[in-house]
Amino acid sequence: MHKYSVRCPTCGEVQDPMSLACSKGHDSLLRTSYKTSQLVPRDLPGIWKFYDWLPVDAIIPNGIGKTITYKSEAFANELGLSNLYVAFNGYWPEKNASMMTCTFKDLEAFPTMQRLLERQDKRIMVVASAGNTARSFAHVCCITGQPLLLVVPENSVHRLWTLHENTSPICLVTVEVDYYNAIEVANKVAAREGFVTEGGAKNVARRDGMGTVMLDAVFTMKELPMHYFQAVGSGTGGISAWEASMRLIQDGRFGSILPQLHLAQNLPCAPLISMWSGNTSTKNTVHENCPKDMYDDVLFNRKPPFSPKGGVRDALQATGGRMYGIDNAAAAHAQQLFEKLEVIDINPASAVAVAALMEAAKKEHIDKTDSIVLNITGGGVGKLRMDYNLNSITPDMRVSAHDPEAELKIVEKVVEKFKR
Ligand SMILES: *Cc1c(COP(=O)(O)O)cnc(C)c1O
Repeated sequence: MHKYSVRCPTCGEVQDPMSLACSKGHDSLLRTSYKTSQLVPRDLPGIWKFYDWLPVDAIIPNGIGKTITYKSEAFANELGLSNLYVAFNGYWPEKNASMMTCTFKDLEAFPTMQRLLERQDKRIMVVASAGNTARSFAHVCCITGQPLLLVVPENSVHRLWTLHENTSPICLVTVEVDYYNAIEVANKVAAREGFVTEGGAKNVARRDGMGTVMLDAVFTMKELPMHYFQAVGSGTGGISAWEASMRLIQDGRFGSILPQLHLAQNLPCAPLISMWSGNTSTKNTVHENCPKDMYDDVLFNRKPPFSPKGGVRDALQATGGRMYGIDNAAAAHAQQLFEKLEVIDINPASAVAVAALMEAAKKEHIDKTDSIVLNITGGGVGKLRMDYNLNSITPDMRVSAHDPEAELKIVEKVVEKFKR
């Protein structure tokens, strides 16, 4: 067997490793199985430490960080928890944390672009995102030189900064109006010849990359935690934590009980909560104004991968998981408390997870001595700003979503920019 194979969890058939869906048409998230069942960390940079459980055959050595897991003292004390570990993703030099985009989307972007590189796939990657995903793909592509088309809603363009001075591999298009329009236009372009889409939760490289959060936590703690807390939009990080935990149980050295997933969404823009509670009239939990006025709109996703085999529902069911609805006030309070006690700035999305942990402690969904991993999915931008110059990426073009020529104009721009 090659280092890994990609299978459908419904029928077990081996699939093309780059495939995003089962060839027999099953509604499942394809899953990687690795030849190595006991993971031995490698002496490689960033997440490549977990090389044997990443679906790549080589690495992009530069610019990659990894999760830093540490045992919390001050914040844990405040909540009366004796076994709380923070899995920090971002920039925090005092702790050797050097994820230079300050979010865990880097964990997805690096393996995804590495897979195109090793196949000498010259197609142009298309990413539609309201922010953090775009920033991470921009970061990787500035390192590798691979061409990237970013399609971003106009009002989230402020999130598109980079430390790189040369951003010529990036073609940035802003779309007037909202996120859906941006995604719609991007999907149309991505379906054309010469373009490729990253595939979201269906992409095993994204999920196994995100799964390294759990790997890092477990190699630090020497055992599987009892609980895992994360703020989610699509829920991909939750699925990834569950998949990594199954591999760690197979490994045999870290225990045999799956960590319980505690996934948090920001009210009222919380479709996963209504899906999980079985309340299908999403109107109750998804206000028409969403994602406007969210504490962090990176947490909004209208079509999360809930029901496919291997999706969010399966992950919650298998782990006895819970969902939390966090309002803006609770998130703000949690952010303030965490930042003061741990002495690091965190992204607003991470504060939603912190608030969920506070709620769980208060309502006694967890015991004070339970082992817990709190995923701080992004942090340290404030610190980074003090140490570095952040360059904003200049849009190459603006289009209106109502322009029937928008798709064509984007393609023409890409051809002109990349001389294709
Ligand atoms: C994307 C993102 C999340 C949510 O991730 P999922 O894909 O839903 O797992 C949480 N926090 C930050 C900072 C993010 O960028």
